[in-house]
Amino acid sequence: MFTPLEGRSVIVTGGSRGIGRGIATCFARAGCKVLIASRDRVAAEETIRDLQDKPGTVSHVAVEVSDPDQCATMAATAVERHGGIDILCSNAGIFPTAKLTTMSPDELQRVMSVNFYGTVYTVQACMEELKKSRAGRVIITSSITGPITGFPGWSHYGASKSAQLGFMRTAAMEFAPSGVTVNAIQPGNIATEGLDGLGEEYLRQMTEAIPHGHLGDVEDIGNAALFFASEEAGYITGQSIVVDGGQILPESAEAMDEI
Ligand code: NAP
Repeated sequence: MFTPLEGRSVIVTGGSRGIGRGIATCFARAGCKVLIASRDRVAAEETIRDLQDKPGTVSHVAVEVSDPDQCATMAATAVERHGGIDILCSNAGIFPTAKLTTMSPDELQRVMSVNFYGTVYTVQACMEELKKSRAGRVIITSSITGPITGFPGWSHYGASKSAQLGFMRTAAMEFAPSGVTVNAIQPGNIATEGLDGLGEEYLRQMTEAIPHGHLGDVEDIGNAALFFASEEAGYITGQSIVVDGGQILPESAEAMDEI
């Protein structure tokens, strides 16, 4: 049995939909004070309404994570509403496709700005408050794409997701003296609004490539985040956990036929 997380102050960037919503749901269910940070207020308000019956509290702050000033406002809002920050889930991300032959500098810049710089800026903005917490946690949503696998059209995305892990290892060291842990989750293909946008053919292909035979649920990632946030995981830092239904395991396409 893990020590309850009730009352912890949690920020979830990109918490209005998809994986972030799954993370926010798990922390709200655990009785935490959750601040969803995303751009579109309307989508966030719908999520907040849906989570009203959970024991925790959920509210929203508008943030563009690629803007350090807005990240500072996000952190200040959490302090104002919840008295501090215990857990930062740096999850907001985008995954547009662009093959190398046509990828423009702007496309590359945008993916790196949101996925990688956004992670750095949110961590920097929350750093001092996390250090004051008695069990500060940073939990980054990376991916299997980039650090482990590749997919044509996602060289920029994969690089941004690998960059998050490189950042995590040194950040974990810099935070270590204050007892704050910095870890990452590497989701496989998780059923989200963002993934739906990639089309039915992509979803079919991915489902066929997963030994468990189905896409992940957003709360599969939320539960991994709860584990990293737990008191009991306090000695784990600079590590990542793959949550993918076995997707990275097959050595060849034929290996799936042998199951
Ligand atoms: P999603 O359904 O598209 O949701 C993305 C969330 O991020 C939304 O809340 C969105 O809200 C927010 N967001 C996007 N750009 C933002 C920005 N510039 N500033 C602030 N918030 C922003 O995506 P998802 O599938 O849940 O993915 C979430 C994370 O998981 C990403 O980091 C992604 O790389 C990672 N991931 C996803 C999968 C998957 O299979 N779904 C697999 C591996 C990794 P607004 O648009 O309102 O800002």
